[in-house]
Amino acid sequence: MKAGSAGPRKSGRKNRPEHLVVIGNGMATIRLVEELVRREGPHQVTVIGEESGPAYNRILLSALLEGSHPESELRLRSASWYADNGMTLLTGSRVARIDRDARVVRLADHRAVPYDRLVLATGSVPALPPIRGLVAPRGDLSARVHAFRSMSDCQALMRALPSARRAVVIGGGLLGLQVARALGVRGLEVDLVEAAPHLLASHIGEPAGAVLRRSLEQLGCEVYPQTRAVRLTEEGLLLDTGYLLRADLFVLTAGARPAISLATAAGLFARRGVVVDDTLTTVTDERIHAIGDCAEHRGRTGGFVAPAWEQAAVLAARLCGADDLYQGSRVVARLRASDLQVAVLGEPERTAGEVVEVANPIRGSYRKLVVRDGVVEAAVLLGDLSRVGLLTQLYDRRTVLGEGEPGQLILGERPPGEGSLRLPDDVEVCACAGVSAGRIRACADLSAVITTTRATTGCGGCAGVVAALLSSGQMRPAESAIAGP
Ligand SMILES: Cc1cc2nc3c(=O)[nH]c(=O)nc-3n(C[C@H](O)[C@H](O)[C@H](O)COP(=O)(O)OP(=O)(O)OC[C@H]3O[C@@H](n4cnc5c(N)ncnc54)[C@H](O)[C@@H]3O)c2cc1C
Repeated sequence: MKAGSAGPRKSGRKNRPEHLVVIGNGMATIRLVEELVRREGPHQVTVIGEESGPAYNRILLSALLEGSHPESELRLRSASWYADNGMTLLTGSRVARIDRDARVVRLADHRAVPYDRLVLATGSVPALPPIRGLVAPRGDLSARVHAFRSMSDCQALMRALPSARRAVVIGGGLLGLQVARALGVRGLEVDLVEAAPHLLASHIGEPAGAVLRRSLEQLGCEVYPQTRAVRLTEEGLLLDTGYLLRADLFVLTAGARPAISLATAAGLFARRGVVVDDTLTTVTDERIHAIGDCAEHRGRTGGFVAPAWEQAAVLAARLCGADDLYQGSRVVARLRASDLQVAVLGEPERTAGEVVEVANPIRGSYRKLVVRDGVVEAAVLLGDLSRVGLLTQLYDRRTVLGEGEPGQLILGERPPGEGSLRLPDDVEVCACAGVSAGRIRACADLSAVITTTRATTGCGGCAGVVAALLSSGQMRPAESAIAGP
C-alpha cells in the first residue's frame, strides 16, 4: 500500500463540498473517517450506523466476555468526536435501501439522506448453520441461542452468564475458540462442536488441529470434531452422532458472510462480497465504494481488521485526491484468547512448497513453515509465538533462506523464563496496523503509541511486545532484547 502520496486537498469546490455518506460505523469506517480528518478531506461526511452506541473495537468483544477488558476500553470514537470534526453521525439508524438513480439512501425510519459519493462498510453477518430449532417461530433466535458479532450480542450473552453452568459453542474457527475460552475463563463448562475434521480447519492442517485440541481440552473444553449439530430441543443439542449435549446456552460461531444484501438490492455486482477494483470502487457504480468485510477484491473477501484498515486508508487517500491503489493484503491470523497462542501467516494448507514442521503436543507447541525456493510462503505457530516477529519479517520481505535456516527457525523449545528476541527497528510488531518496532521505540509512552501508530488497538496481540519495547526505553535496537509474547 502506498500511503499519502498526495497532500491534503482543501475544500475549494465552486458550489459545495461533496457529500460523502458511509453506511456502517464499524472498524473500517473508523479508520476511514480518522484518515479523512487527518488529511483534512474536503467532504461533508455523514456516517450511518445501525448499532445504537458509539463505535467500538469488535475484536475485543471476546476480551469483554472473558472479563479481561471493561466495556469502556473497547470504545473507539465518541459521538462528539464526529461533531467536533464536522461530521454527522446517525446511530441506531439502519439503511433500508439505496436509490442509485436519485442518489439517496433511505433509512428504515423513512428518512432519506442524499449522497454524491457512497461508501459501503456494512461488515459481515453471522452464518446460521442448518440446525432445526435454532430459530423461534417469530423468526428470532431461540432464547438460549446467542450470536456473537456485535456489542449487543455480547451484552446479551453476558446477561445470561450468571444463571448458566454449561455452554455449547457451535463452530471451531478463530471466533469459536475465542468464545469457548472466554466462557471457560468465566467458569462455565464448555463443549465445542466443529463439523470439520479438526479445529481451525480453514487455517491449519490436521496435525496442528490435533495439538490445538489437546491444549483446549487441557483448559477444560470438550471438543467434538467432525460432528454436526442437527437439532436444538428442550433437552439440549442433538448431534449427528446421536449424542445430546445439555447446556444452558448455545453460541453460534459457525462463520460469517459479507453483508451484501443492501448492495445487491441496489443492483451492485456482488459475488461473495461487493466486487470492487483496485480503487475500491464498485465495478457497477463509480460513485459507490466498498471496504472492509463486505468488499470483494480480486476474488477475495476479508474477515480481518488489517485488510479493512488498509482499504480504509487507501480509500481515504483517494477521496482526498491521491492516486493510491489497493493491491491486496497478506493474511496474518492471530487468535486472541487466554492461554491459547495461535498465529497463521498466509494460507499454509493451500500453498505449494516444501513443508518443515515440528510438533510437541505435550507442550502444546507446533510450528510449520511452507518454503518455496528458500522463501517462507506460509507458516503456523501454536503455543509459543516468540518467533512470530522474526517469521513475519522473513515472510513479508520474501527473504531467501539458506538450506539449514528453515529448520533452525522452528526447532528448539523456548526454555521457560528465557527466550528473548532481538527486534531490529524494521520488524513488524503490530500486524493489524502495520507498525514496526522502530516506530514503537520512537514513542514516549503507550498513549503516544496508540495515537500516532494505532498499534495495540486492533487485535491487541502485540500489547506485550509493545510494552517490552517501551520499557526498553531508548536502547539502541541491537541492544534491546524483549521477551516473546
Ligand atoms: C468477536 C469478533 C472477534 C474478532 N477478532 C478478530 C481478530 O482477532 N483479528 C482480526 O483481524 N479480526 C477479527 N474479527 C474481525 C474484525 O472485527 C472485522 O474484520 C472488522 O470488524 C471489519 O470491519 P468492517 O467495518 O468491515 O465491519 P464491522 O466492524 O462489522 O462493521 C460493520 C457495521 O456496519 C453496520 N451495518 C451493517 N448493515 C447496515 C445497514 N444496512 N445500515 C447501517 N449500518 C449497517 C453494522 O451494524 C456494523 O456496525 C473479529 C470479529 C468478531 C465479531
